Amino acid sequence: MRLFVAAELPGEALDALAETSALLRGSVRGRFVAPDSFHVTLAFLGEVEGHGVDAVCSAIDRGCVGIAPFRVSLGDLGCFGKRSKATLWQGFRDAGNLAALAESVRAELRDAGFSFDVKAFLPHVTLMRAVDLTEGELPAPALAEGVVANVVLFRSDLSGQRPVYEALHTVELVA
Ligand code: ATP
Ligand code: MG
Repeated sequence: MRLFVAAELPGEALDALAETSALLRGSVRGRFVAPDSFHVTLAFLGEVEGHGVDAVCSAIDRGCVGIAPFRVSLGDLGCFGKRSKATLWQGFRDAGNLAALAESVRAELRDAGFSFDVKAFLPHVTLMRAVDLTEGELPAPALAEGVVANVVLFRSDLSGQRPVYEALHTVELVA
């Protein structure tokens, strides 16, 4: 199954991200991520055998030990890929806490023998894919702050019309 680990976003941030997404509808063309799917990927595992899931859950549990809930603050828009077919996202201001969480979870996954995408962590929330940025102008994004308190292991099902993420395991950060 296709797995990834994500930080759950606080309601204030989800509302602002939905607002940014609505602003983008008036400015650029592309495929929108459904607001109920917004998340920050901490580690993308890709295909993992069903019998490995328990070990993945334990590694995530260990990676979250000693990390208290922390405040995040949404930031600027950014993009990956070609300007004619970009992935458009909203980032964070001072994302050191998210980076520390990702590093801790990644270290435990690595120690448990799991491989994952090793690109440097750039905390972001994808809002659109296949965006044509050669025309139009990007709006100023909506901003908000809130507290990240949960880390979730998701199974991603790409077989349908749109990706469906199913939460398999949730870890509550403890102060
Ligand atoms: P689709 O691929 O159909 O556009 P999606 O990207 O939302 O949908 P997945 O490809 O399963 O669904 O990805 C789940 C999450 O993992 C997303 O946040 C995605 O950006 C991230 N992700 C996917 N592939 C990688 C990768 N190779 N490296 C890092 N993160 C990835
Ligand atoms: Mg993808």
